[in-house]
Amino acid sequence: MDAAERREQLKQVYLEASACTRCALAETRTTVVFGAGNADADLMFVGEAPGANEDKQGLPFVGQAGRLLDKLLAEIGLERRDVFIANVLKCRPPGNRDPRPQEIDACRDYLHRQVDLIEPRVICTLGNFSTKLLRGDPTGISKLHGQPEVHVLGHRAVRLYPIYHPAAALYTPSMLETLRADFARLPELLATDPPPQPEMLEPVPELEPEGLLPPEPADEAPVDATSEPAGNPDPEPSADQMGLF
Ligand code: URA
Repeated sequence: MDAAERREQLKQVYLEASACTRCALAETRTTVVFGAGNADADLMFVGEAPGANEDKQGLPFVGQAGRLLDKLLAEIGLERRDVFIANVLKCRPPGNRDPRPQEIDACRDYLHRQVDLIEPRVICTLGNFSTKLLRGDPTGISKLHGQPEVHVLGHRAVRLYPIYHPAAALYTPSMLETLRADFARLPELLATDPPPQPEMLEPVPELEPEGLLPPEPADEAPVDATSEPAGNPDPEPSADQMGLF
């Protein structure tokens, strides 16, 4: 899939997510914070959930923790438009409480579809929630940070790189230094060859000779005006609105 197609397909997931009512957070959120950045990124960050600023602006990591993330990225020569940033939850839990298991479960499909479409080489999980979700294991971040591991997510192998959440490092200088040291290993990790991919589970069926011919031109599909996600006033969001590059 080329970059333009990834972007187009991500927009479709965004449209679906922006009208989501899969859990009760739909009743308290201001905006769905889908995620933002480069749809063709090699590096993806996954945080926990939007906070108050993100809920207002509709973009991830725009508060204090986000400023620290920007600074750490700059220190390794990257900026937001080089990476894609998402969260485990796309909606803010009231009062910034921890995500609940049923919310994580309701939302996980969006994150998996983002990973499937972006196909990053490295996913940096920020803190406990994203680390536990994507590793499928309850081991905490303090045991795992800074240690890359290959995991199969969806149909692809990817390097997971758990690190501390920047919010946790804001007020603890020793944690900030650990986070900075873990960040410093990212360029080397990104330069490493992609992990070996798992064998395809199902062999691709052999094409019948007629399958090699170009398809007959199909009739134009009728436009279904009712298929837009409910409650979305703008079915064609601009890239700016989505923070997509
Ligand atoms: N913390 C997160 O985990 N995500 C955000 O988007 C902001 C703060």
